[in-house]
Amino acid sequence: MDCDEFRKRGSEMVEYICQYLETLGDRRVTPSVEPGYLRHLLPGEAPTNPEPWEQIMEDVETKIMPGVTHWQHPRFHAYFPAGNSFPSILGDMLGDGIGCIGFSWAASPACTELETIVLDWLGKAIGLPDDFLALKEGSKGGGVIQTSASECILVTMLAARAQAIKNLKQQHPFVEEGHLLSKLMAYCSKEAHSCVEKAAMICFVKLRILEPDEKASLRGDILLNAMEEDELQGLVPFFVSTTLGTTGSCAFDALEEIGAGIHQRFPGVWLHVDAAYAGNAFICPELKPLLKGIEYADSFNTNPNKWLLTNFDCSTLWVRDRIRLTSALVVDPLYLKHGYSDSAIDYRHWGVPLSRRFRSLKLWFVLRNYGISGLQKYIRHHITLAKKFEQLVLRDKRFEICNEVKLGLVCFRLIGTDKLNEKLLSAINASGKLHMVPASVNDKYIIRFCAVAQNATEEDIDYAWDVIQDFAAEILEKEQA
Ligand code: PLP
Repeated sequence: MDCDEFRKRGSEMVEYICQYLETLGDRRVTPSVEPGYLRHLLPGEAPTNPEPWEQIMEDVETKIMPGVTHWQHPRFHAYFPAGNSFPSILGDMLGDGIGCIGFSWAASPACTELETIVLDWLGKAIGLPDDFLALKEGSKGGGVIQTSASECILVTMLAARAQAIKNLKQQHPFVEEGHLLSKLMAYCSKEAHSCVEKAAMICFVKLRILEPDEKASLRGDILLNAMEEDELQGLVPFFVSTTLGTTGSCAFDALEEIGAGIHQRFPGVWLHVDAAYAGNAFICPELKPLLKGIEYADSFNTNPNKWLLTNFDCSTLWVRDRIRLTSALVVDPLYLKHGYSDSAIDYRHWGVPLSRRFRSLKLWFVLRNYGISGLQKYIRHHITLAKKFEQLVLRDKRFEICNEVKLGLVCFRLIGTDKLNEKLLSAINASGKLHMVPASVNDKYIIRFCAVAQNATEEDIDYAWDVIQDFAAEILEKEQA
């Protein structure tokens, strides 16, 4: 494909995407296919000879689209949102066109410097303490874009582990590192995302998963008691992962309580704050109180690719002390060194992969094209939709609300058994009219309804509620028969 053909196919692709997004509401939200469906539609080998573009695009519509779950569909209410917007798509497209691999400053200076600047912009808008910003006079901190929140948590745990082992090694120089590792203990709530457990598996450290309170929030005394208990047993608490906006029910751990307790009783323990979804909302002044306690944290992550109109992947992580992060991850072969290694940021030391895309471009486009005010409006719109849905549920005495609706997620259930709610959700999802997923909160099966679509309207919420009510009526009738 040469430039002339790229121009033609490029504008056709833009048209295809626009049509797709404009007519999305006419499609089923979820596909109606069985595992292996695509294997029967595509050849088992790549083509030997070039194929016409038209044929490839025809296969997109006839073979790929029938197996797509439409995350941007106005009636997709599952998980948390998958960010999307035209400025973001165009920013990503430009990054793909430039095609640089910015693992070090020298490998593409603009790629590194834009990331640092944009992360400072977003960090300030969120309200992170100045210590987390790279370009503040005297600051040791800074931000970086990772592929996912899971990776943010993994690298912070790796950094905390390296720091803990180093400290222990100073106290016990003749003890094997493997033995010291066996003493390390990390902590999180039962409501934390499963990626904390995965990080602990990869780091080969113990993880104590603690019971939250009845609002699904991890409390300071529960955590501190557990840490003290473990210390008495000869274990070494080294890392705590808290969550602001849990996956199950968008609950908030008591960060201020936890932070103050750690600061007083366990200084040196790394406190991480995972706000993968909710963190984006802190750009709104009225929601900043939810971030209380951040002054005690060593690191913080949020995913603009969830709720800030930015396409995957764009998971932002800030650390208070970048040397503590990079010292766990630096390997420095000659072929990657450059003349400014000592004075410039080399993001290859901030994460697991070496190669990195120019991801800051899309976030920069989004921040500039919407402005913070446009993004605040977007967040507030989703919260309004969620509040509207909550009101609809509250008016129907057959249902109950199961979380404190602070942002865009409403958890609800039919009053009755878990089985009844499982039946309701599976019937709704099978219809393809709506898509929601369940969670278990306080050992109860709940249904999560998230205001997700970029352009969702109040009518979409009314439609969703009508569908839910219809299926509920049908299922309750059958139960009583
Ligand atoms: N943390 C929280 C609170 C989440 O809700 C999620 C996913 O929804 C994650 C972490 C994992 O995110 P990622 O897919 O970016 O690894």
